[in-house]
Amino acid sequence: MRDRAADELLDWYDAHARELPWRLPPAAVKAGARPDPYAVWLSEVMLQQTTVPAVRGYFAAFTARWPTVADLAAAEDGAVMAAWAGLGYYARARNLLKCARVVAGAHGGLFPDTVEGLRALPGIGPYTAAAIAAIAFGRAEVVVDGNVERVMARLHDLHTPLPAAKPALVAAAAALTPAERPGCYAQAVMDLGATVCTPRRPACGICPWTGRCAARRAGTAAELPKKAPKVAKPVRHGIAYLARRSDGAWLLEDRPAKGLLGGMLGWPGGPWAEAGAVDAPPLAADWHDPGFEVRHTFTHFHLRLALRLARLPAATDPSPHRFVAAGAFDPAGLPTVMRKAHALAQPWFAEVPAGG
Ligand code: SF4
Repeated sequence: MRDRAADELLDWYDAHARELPWRLPPAAVKAGARPDPYAVWLSEVMLQQTTVPAVRGYFAAFTARWPTVADLAAAEDGAVMAAWAGLGYYARARNLLKCARVVAGAHGGLFPDTVEGLRALPGIGPYTAAAIAAIAFGRAEVVVDGNVERVMARLHDLHTPLPAAKPALVAAAAALTPAERPGCYAQAVMDLGATVCTPRRPACGICPWTGRCAARRAGTAAELPKKAPKVAKPVRHGIAYLARRSDGAWLLEDRPAKGLLGGMLGWPGGPWAEAGAVDAPPLAADWHDPGFEVRHTFTHFHLRLALRLARLPAATDPSPHRFVAAGAFDPAGLPTVMRKAHALAQPWFAEVPAGG
């Protein structure tokens, strides 16, 4: 006898499906209707890294202004980028337009109806391709997003941490995906994860799978899925050179426009490297090592920034850097790591008078 898990979930979905502007009600799909692939594609691209409430307004505005993929393909780049403004991750908007033009051009306005065909389009990865193929074209593709991973980990009480657990979770999802109504089923698991099997407090009492859920029985649902501890950030080392001219002006560097702290003002210094700091003073001076360092954490690494301090004579040539007059210097305009360096160096400059 076929496992009834998918049917149980579909029954629940028929009664509790979220009403979303890009969706058809389950009754309409059961009656043979198919959602517009353009609407499914547009919503799936908008929903990448973005919540349903944030997407609703944008979806309505896009479909009102560009009702078909051909309309979108004919839009001006600037108009689409402006309409996308505020939704974030702007590479999505550029790919959206590229994809619309490929579909409207090479595909005659029709989206491909297979995962392989969809994957060949700009901006469509494996998840989005599977979601469109299932929802818009009724293909029994396995659609696995974060919600689905959580539900599967709990259903099977799987404690292997992500991302190592991924193949097992995909296999679990595949085993449940039905040949009939696969699009509704994909959306049903997502709805279950979004509204019932939520990350912190799963509402097991109203869950259609409560009777078959291993984590509910074990009392471990709220702990799952496990996630591998984040990889320790590397430590990089650098040196910042803080110097004041005899009139109190500070030697500062305009950082290159690209890269970390791009375009910001900072203290001159060499590269920040895991192998160790490079001692490369910006100009010849009697550099003093105060013996302490700034510690700062960026997204991808910890920084240990040693300091070198100097008083400079009036005639010093600052190039390629520049002096900022004491009265015009405001440490609040520096990035945090540079501000920390200034705060640590301040007492030394107070003690060592100009020319000292
Ligand atoms: Fe999630 Fe609870 Fe349902 Fe299990 S019973 S799938 S933990 S909501």
